[in-house]
Amino acid sequence: MKLDSMDLASMSLGELQGIVSCLKEPKFRAKQILEWLAVGARPDEMLNIPKKLREKLNGIPFGGAEIIEQRFSSKDDTVKMLYELSDGNIVEGVLMRYSYGSTLCISTQAGCRMGCAFCASTLNGRVRNLTAGEMLSEVTSVERMFPHEEGRKRTVTNIVMMGSGEPLDNYDNTLRFLERATASDGLGISPRNISLSTCGLVPEIYRFIDNAPHVTLCISLHAPNNEIRDRLMPINHRYRMEELIPAAKCYADRTGRRVIFEYALVDGVNASEECAKELAERLRGINCHVNLIPLNSVKERSLNGVTRKHAYTFAGWLEKMHISATVRRELGTDIDGACGQLRNKYSERNGIGTDTNEPQSRIFDEISSKNSLQEQEESK
Ligand code: SAH
Repeated sequence: MKLDSMDLASMSLGELQGIVSCLKEPKFRAKQILEWLAVGARPDEMLNIPKKLREKLNGIPFGGAEIIEQRFSSKDDTVKMLYELSDGNIVEGVLMRYSYGSTLCISTQAGCRMGCAFCASTLNGRVRNLTAGEMLSEVTSVERMFPHEEGRKRTVTNIVMMGSGEPLDNYDNTLRFLERATASDGLGISPRNISLSTCGLVPEIYRFIDNAPHVTLCISLHAPNNEIRDRLMPINHRYRMEELIPAAKCYADRTGRRVIFEYALVDGVNASEECAKELAERLRGINCHVNLIPLNSVKERSLNGVTRKHAYTFAGWLEKMHISATVRRELGTDIDGACGQLRNKYSERNGIGTDTNEPQSRIFDEISSKNSLQEQEESK
């Protein structure tokens, strides 16, 4: 077993059994450890485990994400969090509390290399991928900080992978996270209650159909045509809309799950009635829904959102053309709710530099050569 690529927090029963057997400990210890991991406990807290074994477990990287700052919105029940990873990197998460439960938005990478023109997470490039254990710890840390109400099994009932990072650019860790998050001996959250948002890595969407739990797939589309999408999202130069939309349709057809298209309305760019018409034509025949949001203006970018009133008008245009659409509730606007904003402020305050200086062209070359390598492997 390759231990160096895996952290304790992300291990399955079989993997833990491998470890306890290597350490010549009885097999039942693996199940005990797993129960502790499901509630985010560190080895030192695993009180029914002998001290000697706990010390050995301490020698394995844990994959923790510790909450170091919280901001409570005064407008709604949103809490924004900063997590610190074991190497000092910072990522963010948002907890949105509703009457039926809570949705946690988690990050999958520190920073992001996708370069979307409106997104604060990508301003300084990608620093590193999060491990599956770190993603799981984002959830369990919140559960420890906000214990669940009586009668509920857990605090976090829904997860959206919409924090910083591109989950499909961190494919293996994302898959392992989803396996553990949905397993009954893991977090036990139904795939129906998990959404994964991607900017549109087409080969990974197809792989995902075949080997991941069938979660809700959200595609950040943000444009009705290639011309506008090219301006907003560099990934569109690599995977054109002619490839992306069929991949989304395939996901919907094969999984029976409605695909969500996210569409941030940018004033003077993608928000006209013409755009709504073109978008409706593109999406015709797909089991889908459009989630509209007025672009959250980011001070570092010179793109501005439309008014909420205009967003409702745009939704009306789509509905008239039989495309289901809603305007997303705006949460936590007073606490830097948009992707990457709080982390960037923290980094500025604390003088943390994150610039990796990866040029965009090289990034997408790397992604595509990785994909063709995978394709070669698969066709063997
Ligand atoms: N990389 C993934 C997930 C992270 S971003 C993706 O691209 O989908 C989560 C969502 O927030 C995406 O739809 C993204 O396009 C959107 N987003 C980022 N910055 C935004 C902003 N300033 N205003 C509105 N939506 C934004």
